Amino acid sequence: MKKILIIYTGGTIGMVRTENGYAPKDGYFRSALEAIPAMQSKEMPDWELHEMSPLLDSSNMTVVEWNKIGKLIKDSYDEYDGFVVLHGTDTMAYTASALSFMLENLGKPVVLTGSQIPLCEVRSDGRDNIITSVLIAASGRVHEVCLYFGGSLLRGNRATKYSADGLIAFVSPNYPALAEAGIEIRYRRSALLPAPEGKLRLQQLESIPIGVIKVFPGIQFSLFEQIMTEKLRGIVIETFGAGNIPGDGNALLPIIRRAFANGTVLTVCSQCPQGAVSLGAYETSSALKQAGAVSGLDITTEAAVAKLYYLFSCGYDKDAVKVLMERDLRGEMTV
Ligand code: ASP
Repeated sequence: MKKILIIYTGGTIGMVRTENGYAPKDGYFRSALEAIPAMQSKEMPDWELHEMSPLLDSSNMTVVEWNKIGKLIKDSYDEYDGFVVLHGTDTMAYTASALSFMLENLGKPVVLTGSQIPLCEVRSDGRDNIITSVLIAASGRVHEVCLYFGGSLLRGNRATKYSADGLIAFVSPNYPALAEAGIEIRYRRSALLPAPEGKLRLQQLESIPIGVIKVFPGIQFSLFEQIMTEKLRGIVIETFGAGNIPGDGNALLPIIRRAFANGTVLTVCSQCPQGAVSLGAYETSSALKQAGAVSGLDITTEAAVAKLYYLFSCGYDKDAVKVLMERDLRGEMTV
């Protein structure tokens, strides 16, 4: 009999109504889970629940919680066949990305899921999301961190939250779904990462100072000079299209050069969910290239942020981080 560890971190799925809106409640989730008849079915694997403390709305997730989840998976790795992490949807794609980097040589499924409607409500989408995630975690088919939601299993570091209120809340614009759950759960074998050869290793993350800037028409780059200090280790810049910034790129150039001299790694992502950055394809992106920015290719901003945390936590210097940001480490980018 397969055995799955369900880790409840907080999020809508287990929230209850309070006078200030939905909020997690200590000790409530176990009864909510046990009240789902299918969770007691003989067709389900054995499962155990671990409730994290404190339970969080995922807007409050930090590297501290990522480390706690990672350590729990590492410490109980031999005891279980797979892991389901129940998480708020708001930052689920960040946590999935972070865990994908932190858990090197992962040989068992780690499936993140949650819901848009809490289990305490009749129309909750949480029931199917949990039941199917547990079955996927027990399948032994997946050797990576993934995210199941609304019928699709996505690679965790390729997923992005797409809808604030739809039940298909996540998409994976630059990589196919790993599986679709219709009448049957159909895995796309060619899309799955191969089983690793080495032993699981956990890289804990540090609270590295990094930033994200979204470019918009009329952006006054000089305002950002203030944050480009030596403290800033990495920055993700969300550009237009294939890596373009407003035409007076020269305004940005000295700032980027300063950042670069300070040792800050600047990674270019696109505001377009689909497609890749191609630095130098247009005049408007050449400035970034000349100043030493690295291309995030088709990585999501969520994965780029998590990757910067990870690479700096590994202790790499800025030159190594620059090289590795353009290299595919966990299936997060198409090189
Ligand atoms: N604010 C909630 C959270 O991310 C939303 C959700 O779970 O869907 O924790």
